[in-house]
Amino acid sequence: MSDHDLNCIFCKIVAGQIPSRKVYEDDELFGFHDIHPWAPVHFLIVPKRHVVSMAHLSADDAGWMGRLMVLAPKLAIEQGCNPYPHGGFRMVCNTGVEGGQEVQHLHWHVMGGPRPWTRG
Ligand code: AMP
Ligand code: ZN
Repeated sequence: MSDHDLNCIFCKIVAGQIPSRKVYEDDELFGFHDIHPWAPVHFLIVPKRHVVSMAHLSADDAGWMGRLMVLAPKLAIEQGCNPYPHGGFRMVCNTGVEGGQEVQHLHWHVMGGPRPWTRG
């Protein structure tokens, strides 16, 4: 698998070829607001490298995936989620057809903020 898929919308967002509302960037991860938010706070965190889905991970991916998970609560607060336990957030990673995955570049949704939400 190459690091960048020319036809992938999230690879294009990471490369700056499609505009996004960025919330975070480092060497391996990129965060941006979902274009159709379900909740008052709704952003996505992706690996910069083109990884198709959770079903494509191997032991070599444990490092960045762990760092993504540790990053998420920090970004959730920065983006306006209320603190645990009365606030909090939801993380979702749709995987495959039956998992409801529409974009074939691994992405974690992070959603939060006051209820009610549009979905979820
Ligand atoms: P899913 O693959 O089902 O997890 O859904 C993909 C998510 O990506 C949806 O919530 C879309 O709203 C979001 N999305 C698709 N295109 C863009 C874009 N250009 N910028 C930000 N979010 C997007
Ligand atoms: Zn991609």
